[in-house]
Amino acid sequence: MAQLIDGKKISSEIKEELKAEVEALKRQGKEICLAVVQVGQDPASCVYVNNKKKACAYIGIRSEAYELPETVGEEELLALVEKLNQAGHVNGILVQLPLPAHIDEDKVIRAISPDKDVDGFHPVSVGRLWIGEPGFLSCTPAGIIQLLKRSGISIDGKECVIVGRSNIVGKPMAALLLREHATVTVAHSHTKNLKEITNRADILIVAMGKRQFIGADYVKDGAVVIDVGMHRDENNKLCGDVAFAQVCEKTSAITPVPGGVGPMTIAMLMNNCVQTVR
Ligand code: NAP
Repeated sequence: MAQLIDGKKISSEIKEELKAEVEALKRQGKEICLAVVQVGQDPASCVYVNNKKKACAYIGIRSEAYELPETVGEEELLALVEKLNQAGHVNGILVQLPLPAHIDEDKVIRAISPDKDVDGFHPVSVGRLWIGEPGFLSCTPAGIIQLLKRSGISIDGKECVIVGRSNIVGKPMAALLLREHATVTVAHSHTKNLKEITNRADILIVAMGKRQFIGADYVKDGAVVIDVGMHRDENNKLCGDVAFAQVCEKTSAITPVPGGVGPMTIAMLMNNCVQTVR
């Protein structure tokens, strides 16, 4: 019987730890403030932003909302980011992505001070991660490391295969697993013999954005499977990149969707906010 890796429970544990830490920091006179910038009113972005604000309130982090119209110019957005970079009371800056097409997302990410880059997307944060310097870690992959560690799954020396090489999941995941001394393979859409490669994995991390793509034939007996994907199935129920029901049987441990990787991302964002004053 596969162990179900409970992201809801583990993320709650992390949030409780952070809440206690924030209380202790407040007693030392250290307050934390996160600036949350949202452009437009995309419904999915609104849900994410609200969840982030709620998590801040729960943990004791002040959040400041900056809501800009969909039509805002790039210069105006960059000017706001610069103002927040300079604001002494603001510890972290989060610009909710995606941005409208007329705004250069990379330019905005680069405009955020690396000292306030709580999403960990700035090239300086990415560079620090790859050379092993302390810095802000990309939240979803950092959450996956916590899921593994807190479920008692060792990473050292393991054969890890990541399917997907995006800047927000696949690539930082590879850097973090290397840091934990795994042997890492990154597969992508040009990979030949994907099935052969995924069948080598002791730990298989799937972030390909393809609904229920990974079936039992992609998975080695006893492997650990982490499903980053997030989709709606034909019955409008949430599901992942992994065909859970058939894959589950073969694994030693697996994350469900929902309740696996998803809840970890915000917990790790909160951790990055606390890190600004540690
Ligand atoms: P993405 O930017 O679309 O990247 C998908 C990656 O998968 C790309 O590297 C792509 O290869 C690769 N890929 C696509 N089809 C493939 C195939 N047939 N064989 C092998 N590789 C293939 O996606 P993402 O932003 O990393 O997100 C992935 C999934 O995770 C999505 O479902 C997203 O909604 C979800 N997600 C969840 C969270 C969370 O908090 N739970 C956070 C982020 C993302 P190429 O590079 O060659 O195109």
